[in-house]
Amino acid sequence: MALLFHSKIKRNDWWQEEIAKHIPDLEVRFYPDVGNPEDIEFALCFAMPHGVLAGLPNLKGIFSLGAGVDHFFNDPDFPRHVPMARVVDPELTDRMSEYVVQHVLNHHRYQHQYDQQQKEHVWKERHAPAARDRKIGILGLGALGTGAAEMLRNLNFDVAGWSRSAKNIDGITCFHGADQLDRFLARTEILICLLPLTEETTGILNKELFAKLPEGAALINPGRGPHLVEEDLIDALNSDHLSAATLDVFHQEPLPEDNPLWDHPKIRITPHVASIAAPDRVAALAAQNILRARAGEPLINQVDPDKGY
Ligand code: NAP
Repeated sequence: MALLFHSKIKRNDWWQEEIAKHIPDLEVRFYPDVGNPEDIEFALCFAMPHGVLAGLPNLKGIFSLGAGVDHFFNDPDFPRHVPMARVVDPELTDRMSEYVVQHVLNHHRYQHQYDQQQKEHVWKERHAPAARDRKIGILGLGALGTGAAEMLRNLNFDVAGWSRSAKNIDGITCFHGADQLDRFLARTEILICLLPLTEETTGILNKELFAKLPEGAALINPGRGPHLVEEDLIDALNSDHLSAATLDVFHQEPLPEDNPLWDHPKIRITPHVASIAAPDRVAALAAQNILRARAGEPLINQVDPDKGY
C-alpha cells in the first residue's frame, strides 16, 4: 500500500526518506504519478487537484500539509467520509505568535505612520499608550489564536478573543458567538484574524465589521485571503476609519502585480509566510496518524467536516 503526496514545493526525495524514518514499509508516490489508484491508502497534501482524492477507493486517511483545511473543501468531489487531519504543532503556533507580535508592535508603536513620515522627511512624534492600555482583539481562539493571545498577554497587552464556543483562558477576555461579536469589536484597537476559512467566515472582514471597530483601528490578517473584502479595506483606510493593515494572505496568491493592495501607503504585505509548518514535524505527525488509522484508532487533530475546520 502507498501514500500519495502533493505539494506546490517539490522536495520529493526528502519526503520519501522522512516518511521512511517512521514507517519504512510505506511506499510514497508523488502526484501525478499515482500508479494503480487502489494501492493508495493515505494522502498527505496541500491543494491536491480537484477530483483526485475522490478517485482513490481505498483511502483510510487524508492529512493536510498545513493547519488550514479549506483547500480540501474547495474540491467539490472531496471524499468527506474519509478521516482527515491537519497540523497542530507548538512550533507552528510559536511562529504565528511571533508574526502577530511583530505586527502588533508595529501598529501599537505607529511604525506604519513613521515609515510614511520618513518618505516625506516629516519629524512628528506620536505617543503610544502603555501596552496594558492597548486593546487587542483576536478573531479565532484555536491553536494559533490562543498562542498569539497568550504571547501578547505576556507583553501586558489588554487582549480579547472571539470564538464559536465559550472559552476560559487565563488573562484573556473571551467572547463567543454572533451575539457577542459587536461587543468584542467595539473594544478592539488592533484586530487580528486567525479564523479558519469556512462558509461562515468568508468575507467576515468587510465594511460592516470595520464600521464596528473604533476609529483608527488597525487590521492584521494572517488567516486566509477570502476572509477579507479587499475593496472594503481600501475604503476604510482611505476614509481614515482604519489607520493601517498588515496582510499575509490574499484571494489570489501570488498577489497579482496590478493589485492595488501592493501600493496602498497604509498596507504592509508579507507573502503568506506568517507560519509555515516544518516538514519534519508534518512528516512525524502524518506517520503517527497513519499508525493510528491502521490500528483503527481516531486520528490526532482530526477535522470535523461538518464544521469545516
Ligand atoms: P483552529 O485551532 O481550528 O481554531 C479556529 C478558531 O476559530 C477556533 O477558536 C474556532 O472556534 C474559531 N471559529 C471558527 N469558526 C468560527 C465562527 N464561525 N465564529 C466564531 N469563531 C469561529 O485553527 P488554527 O490552527 O488556530 O488555525 C487558524 C487558521 O490560521 C487556519 O485555518 C489557517 O487558515 C490560518 N493559518 C495561516 C497561516 C499563515 O502562514 N498565514 C499558517 C497557518 C494557519 P471554536 O474554538 O469555538 O471551535
